[in-house]
Amino acid sequence: MNFFNPKNLKELHSIADKIDGKYYYLAGGTDINVQIKHEMIGKDDNIIYINELSELKGIIEEEDEIILGSLTTFTQLLKSELMQKYFPILAENLQNFASPLLQTTATIGGNIANGSPTADIIPLLLVLDAKLILSGANGERTVMLNGFYTGYKKNFLAKGEIIKSIVINKNALNGANTFYKKVGARKTLTIAKVSLAAIWEMENSKIKRICLAAGSLNEYARRLPLVEQYLLNKKKTEVDLKKLEEILKQEVTPISDLRSDREYRFQVCLNLIKEIIEI
Ligand SMILES: Cc1cc2nc3c(=O)[nH]c(=O)nc-3n(C[C@H](O)[C@H](O)[C@H](O)COP(=O)(O)OP(=O)(O)OC[C@H]3O[C@@H](n4cnc5c(N)ncnc54)[C@H](O)[C@@H]3O)c2cc1C
Repeated sequence: MNFFNPKNLKELHSIADKIDGKYYYLAGGTDINVQIKHEMIGKDDNIIYINELSELKGIIEEEDEIILGSLTTFTQLLKSELMQKYFPILAENLQNFASPLLQTTATIGGNIANGSPTADIIPLLLVLDAKLILSGANGERTVMLNGFYTGYKKNFLAKGEIIKSIVINKNALNGANTFYKKVGARKTLTIAKVSLAAIWEMENSKIKRICLAAGSLNEYARRLPLVEQYLLNKKKTEVDLKKLEEILKQEVTPISDLRSDREYRFQVCLNLIKEIIEI
C-alpha cells in the first residue's frame, strides 16, 4: 500500500492527479481502517492522509451561513456553541453516534463521503438543505448534498476532488419543528435499521413547509419529495393514510439484510411519518 502525507490541498491535488490506480483519503480512519483490516483495500492501492490539512478544519460563522470543515469530528460538532445555537437538531440527535470514543475521531466529511445508506448525519443534513464545497485541481465547486449520491456508496466526486466543507444556511431551521429517530438494535453503538429526519412548520393548521429524509431505506439516504409534496398545504385531518402509504412505496425500496427485513423497515418508516404528523 502506498501512503501519502500532503501538507496542504495544493499538494494533495497534485498527488491525487498523478495516481493511476485506486486511492482513498484517510481522515479519522474509522471506516477506512476497517476496510484495510478486511483486505477490501488492495496492496497496490494508495492512501492519502488528510487529517492534518488545516484547510479542512474549523467551524466558521459567516453572515448567512455556517461552514463546517470536513475534518470536523462528531465531538467538535456536538460541543460547538454555533451548532447548538443554529442547528440544535444536529447536536440533540447525534449524541448516540457510534460511541464517545469514536466521536472524537470520526469526521463529518468521512461520514458523508463514505456514503453508507446508514450514515447518521446524512438525513439530518439533507433536511437542512446542506451544500458541499468540493475542492479539486481546477478550483472549488459547490453542490447540494441532495443529489451528491449516484448509487450505493457512489457519489459524483471527480478524480482528485475532496469534500472541503459543508455549508448550512443559518435560517435553515428558522424556528421550525424538528424530528429525528434512529431505530437500531440498541441505543448506542448501533447501526440504523431505519432513520428519519424531518423539519416542518404549520400555519392555520396546515403543513406550510415540510422536509423529510430517510436513511437505511434505499442505496443511499435520500429526501422524500413525493411524500413532502403530498403533505404540503394539508391539514393533518386531510391526510389519507392509504394514499400516504402508496406514495411512500414509490420513494423507499428497503432491502432485507442481517440487520432487518424490508417489510419491517417500510412499516417503521411509515409509522415515523405518522408520528410526525400525529395521525
Ligand atoms: C465501531 C464503529 C461504530 C460506528 N458507528 C457509526 C454510527 O453509529 N453511525 C454512523 O453513521 N457511522 C458509524 N460508523 C462509521 C464511521 O465511524 C463514520 O462513517 C465516520 O464518520 C467516518 O469518518 P472517518 O473520518 O473515520 O472516515 P475515514 O475512515 O477516514 O474515511 C471514510 C471514507 O471517506 C472518504 N473521505 C474521508 N474524508 C473525505 C473528504 N473530506 N472528502 C472526500 N472523501 C473523504 C475516504 O476516502 C473513505 O473512503 C462506525 C464505525 C465503527 C468502526
